[in-house]
Amino acid sequence: MVEKPSETEEQWFKDQELKNAKEAEQRAAHLAALAAEAAIKAERGRCPRDGAALATQIHEGVEIDQCPTCKGVWLDAGELEHLEHGKSGGLFGFLRGR
Ligand SMILES: [Zn+2]
Repeated sequence: MVEKPSETEEQWFKDQELKNAKEAEQRAAHLAALAAEAAIKAERGRCPRDGAALATQIHEGVEIDQCPTCKGVWLDAGELEHLEHGKSGGLFGFLRGR
C-alpha cells in the first residue's frame, strides 16, 4: 500500500514546485535580457536609416561612424561635444576635409 504523503510533505512539494517555477521565470527573464543585448549589439554598427554597415573612422581620438550609402554621420554620446572643441576645425572641419 502506498502511503499518502503527510501535510508537511505535500506542502514541501508545493514549495518546491513554486521555487522551480520562480527559478524558471528568472532563467527566462535572464535569457530575454541576453537576447535583447545581442540584438542591440547586432544593431550597432548599422545605419539607422538604411541598415548599411557603417565605416568607423578615428578623428581626434573620437570614433565617427559614417554610412557609405546615405553618407549619414553617427556619433556616440559626448562625441559631438568632443569634436566641437577639437583642434582641427571640429566636426565641420572633419566634414569639410572629406
Ligand atoms: Zn545610411
